[in-house]
Amino acid sequence: MGRTAAQSLVAWLEELGRISDEPDGLTRTFLSPAMRRSNAQVTRWMAAAGLAVREDPMGNVIGRLEGPTPDAKTLWLGSHLDTVRRAGRFDGALGVLTPIAALAELRRRRVNLPFAVEVIGFSEEEGVRFASGYLGSKAFTGQLRPADLALRDADGVTVREAVARWHSLTPGRSIPVRSSARGGRPGDRLIPFPSSRPAPSSLLGYVEVHIEQGPVLERERLAVGVVSAIAGQTRGRIVLRGQAGHAGTTPMALRRDALAGAAEFVRFVESTARLRAPLVATVGSLTVTPGAPNVIPGEVKLSLDVRHPRDPARRAALTHLLAEARAIARRRGLKFTWEKTQDDGAVACAPELTARLEASVQAVQSRSVTLVSGAGHDAVVVAAVAPVAMLFVRCRGGLSHHPDEYAAPADIGVALDVLVEFLLRLAPPAAAAKRKSSR
Ligand SMILES: [Zn+2]
Repeated sequence: MGRTAAQSLVAWLEELGRISDEPDGLTRTFLSPAMRRSNAQVTRWMAAAGLAVREDPMGNVIGRLEGPTPDAKTLWLGSHLDTVRRAGRFDGALGVLTPIAALAELRRRRVNLPFAVEVIGFSEEEGVRFASGYLGSKAFTGQLRPADLALRDADGVTVREAVARWHSLTPGRSIPVRSSARGGRPGDRLIPFPSSRPAPSSLLGYVEVHIEQGPVLERERLAVGVVSAIAGQTRGRIVLRGQAGHAGTTPMALRRDALAGAAEFVRFVESTARLRAPLVATVGSLTVTPGAPNVIPGEVKLSLDVRHPRDPARRAALTHLLAEARAIARRRGLKFTWEKTQDDGAVACAPELTARLEASVQAVQSRSVTLVSGAGHDAVVVAAVAPVAMLFVRCRGGLSHHPDEYAAPADIGVALDVLVEFLLRLAPPAAAAKRKSSR
């Protein structure tokens, strides 16, 4: 099919990848000037594909293709438009632009789908600015909580204030204003959150196309694969407190070295996860205090990230790891604390929607493979209100969150073909007949 459709999709990805808050490298964070420019650009592409575009209070861009009747069900397609710092240009963007290209292609073929479609570019997924992700999809699906709006960025600005500022700088936009008569803070008067939750009965589901961010498809020599589940993840912070002291005068036997204890724990985390595949567990950051070459480390803060596709296995592993951390602390005379900062259950993709996606993959690349997503995605949040399915696209070396992130144009073309095939298969026979005649 449409080489031109795939080619323009690849060109769009390049163009969007140049919209950045930083001159060298791609950084596009929530409610930044670059986000305003990328939303405007995505709006133009959506409109050209025949979609009616709106932006919701959280800055999500939504392009809607109406169904044949007002009561037609709606299929959601999308991903996020924000990025990490020094990002690649495929993470997120691919899942917003591929659906636009697919709908443009169907329009070119004059196929009328018997359902409505909304393509959503979520404004916030990566959690860069407010250290908490999924703000866009939470708002879109009516799951935003007051605590989310109270989160602060590095400058002390809350989400609520940042959103209000974003809208006050949008020319010609009328903002829903909530009275602050009861003496709320200035940021309190704008944006009636949470947005209303859509009725599940009106939704066909949500499909997200995303780069794999891992090595499985490359190993399988396949352009795309279907996600069966998204691993649950627990994150938190451990603090080990010992006693700082002079590195020259304190005998070894009298030390309470927090870093030596932390090192023991890091090794234990690695060996435990190796024995319990598909468990993955990581200590990704250590903060050592006071952190001087001639001082015994008095305190260490460690991050812990534990993921598994099955929740009971993740919980059991976490219990096991924390018990060992306590035991290490006891042996070494350290104080131990644990603070959980994130706890997301595993999400199983919807069987029926996933089966259709698999059939579409088989139609396009003859073989399909299913894989578990170790990373979280907008689909995790959307799964609370709609059936979800995900298509992964091979990326070179499994590399992501890096400027060298790369998905080959041919693989992007396969993903586009699969999505077009999927949309046609989701349509009942009447529309399918039209498709045969136009092929
Ligand atoms: Zn992503």
